[in-house]
Amino acid sequence: MTGTELLRNLPAVDEVLRHSALATARSTVPRPQLLDWIRAAVDECRASVQSGFAPDADAAMDFVIEHAIGLWRREDGQRLQPVINATGILLHTNLGRAPLADRAVERMQAASAYANVELDLHSGKRSRRGARTCELLRQLTGAEDALFVNNCAAATMLVLQTTAAGREVIVSRGQLVEIGGGFRLPEVFAASGARLREVGTTNRTYLRDYEAAITENSAAIIRVHRSNFYQGGFVTEPGIRELVALGREVGVPVIDDVGSGCVTDARVAGQQEPNVIGSVTAGADLTLFSGDKLFGGPQAGIIVGRSEWIERCRRNPLMRALRLDKTTIAALEATTEIHLEGTATTELPLWRMLTTPPETIRRRCERIHGELSAMLQADSTVGSDSPQLSIVDSVARVGGGSAPGSEIASFAICLSCSAPDAMAAALRHSDPGVLARISDATVTLDLRTVDDTQLDALVRVIQAAIRQTVGEA
Ligand SMILES: *Cc1c(COP(=O)(O)O)cnc(C)c1O
Repeated sequence: MTGTELLRNLPAVDEVLRHSALATARSTVPRPQLLDWIRAAVDECRASVQSGFAPDADAAMDFVIEHAIGLWRREDGQRLQPVINATGILLHTNLGRAPLADRAVERMQAASAYANVELDLHSGKRSRRGARTCELLRQLTGAEDALFVNNCAAATMLVLQTTAAGREVIVSRGQLVEIGGGFRLPEVFAASGARLREVGTTNRTYLRDYEAAITENSAAIIRVHRSNFYQGGFVTEPGIRELVALGREVGVPVIDDVGSGCVTDARVAGQQEPNVIGSVTAGADLTLFSGDKLFGGPQAGIIVGRSEWIERCRRNPLMRALRLDKTTIAALEATTEIHLEGTATTELPLWRMLTTPPETIRRRCERIHGELSAMLQADSTVGSDSPQLSIVDSVARVGGGSAPGSEIASFAICLSCSAPDAMAAALRHSDPGVLARISDATVTLDLRTVDDTQLDALVRVIQAAIRQTVGEA
């Protein structure tokens, strides 16, 4: 057959579009995009024919379908979709940090229609955006007033800009941290227009260092929680109370960036985290924290403190650029209610995961292990090269730049297999995608971060991944 004759075997784009193998793609991808991929796949097939590939019509169709599906899969991996987190890292930044409480999700859904974002239904008058959430945060923390923005980085920026643009903010050299994801404190200072006035050394900063740095140019003192690392040994720095006393004496506000947002004094996975109420009680003028770390809510930056300073932040024109959308406010409102009601450990997934007893996690592992073992025995196709299953001790972590070094006793399902990378990829490409840990020749699924409601899906996905990887081997 000549090249020209072979080219007649290329399928028509319409014909490929109707093919049953593309049913799922048809229902999830906008048609113009699918058509682009099919055309690209047909082009690819044509180029192969021109360089010697000699398919009949069926083989050409298979080739085109396979390529089109490849293009779809590549993009589908970026479609925002729910996944099962079997990494044992509770606040996994790449997986969206804190999963939201059911109550928060319901309220987001409800607020997604028209909602009284800036309207008081009682008086019929315009009200402040998220007024009730401010009120709840005030009650929860004991602060005079509260404000919220897009994330804690935005909160830091807003607060520095409001209190200190063009002037100096005093900070310890031991606290000039990088939080991750490009949040480097000196860069945030620069962006806010505030000048950094560094005092002390990496490991030791005394109150007198702050005192010595005070001039008429001083606009504020900031304390920043180190968040994702810890210092030990020959270290010292003044506590927030001492800084507040100094701030009062010299007349500058004291800002406390506590970061992870543990509300009350609690040990988190054995680590003492700074807490918001402690900071407010100590008298910090402005206390900042994230909504989606230990607070267990949506991405947000929360600022609580003295009304005078909160009001100045609120009036800053930047505020308009940093404000939250109505669905996030709804989730924040619900999450704050949960903290106020004291039901965090039952209602907030993060706190549920933090406090689940290890035996409960072991039972989850046993259930998964039992169902998978039964499947492997019954399935003759997987045979002798199927992975070895076991239940192992595991260590879960808080993650998300909180409680560094924390170790939470946990259990995991371990799959020892010849191609762990292929197994992990098959798990990731499933629906829902499953994220596991890979080390040496094993894929480890820590079940502290997996909810009971996800176990059936998890078994199904692991089964399919075993069949697929064994089939390929
Ligand atoms: C995490 C963190 C931030 C940044 O918070 P985002 O909400 O991620 O923007 C800022 N400061 C501290 C101390 C933090 O721990």
